[in-house]
Amino acid sequence: MPIDSVCVYCGSSNRVDEAYKDVARAVGRGLAEKGKRIVYGGGRVGLMGIVADAALAAGGKVTGIIPEHIQSREVEHTGLTELIVVADMHTRKRMMVERSDAFVILPGGFGTLDETFEILTWKQLNLHAKPIVIYNACGYWDHLLALIRGLVDAGFAPPANLDLFAVADTMEAMFAALARAEPVSGDVASKWM
Ligand code: AMP
Repeated sequence: MPIDSVCVYCGSSNRVDEAYKDVARAVGRGLAEKGKRIVYGGGRVGLMGIVADAALAAGGKVTGIIPEHIQSREVEHTGLTELIVVADMHTRKRMMVERSDAFVILPGGFGTLDETFEILTWKQLNLHAKPIVIYNACGYWDHLLALIRGLVDAGFAPPANLDLFAVADTMEAMFAALARAEPVSGDVASKWM
């Protein structure tokens, strides 16, 4: 199954190192140049806004999904191809999953971690079978990856959980991982479709 749309989870903070903003810019542009529609949280702030702006500047399509109660906090992006305002966070997160063929995790904070573990645990439960790529830009996710390995070593997660996601250190590796990890069809197909 081709990957037409990619959900990007990333931070909403503006107070981060310029290197992470460069990563967000490159990913937004790269996805647009590959003809992938971006699905994201719909805000103008932080890496989220940078990804969207870079994709739009490169002629890409961007769908933002934002709950009305955080519209002012995350400042909804008014220049998107499509902006969907939903009632609550759960609807946003479910809709982001429904509308995406794959997920890319960029550096981020609590919200990014929440979204990451939600799609990982949904995949663990066979609720979807879509590719998940953790883009470990600048080694940002080294601690997270060590934590995940620790859970497996301690027996709290099966070793097979390490196969739920791919890790990419470069943007090229990220796109290669997306290309390799095509969704499987059959009885593990998404119940969210
Ligand atoms: P952050 O990584 O904290 O900067 O947040 C990135 C995005 O995740 C923002 O659009 C948040 O609204 C969103 N997010 C998703 N789930 C949550 C949650 N449970 N708590 C906080 N933010 C969340």
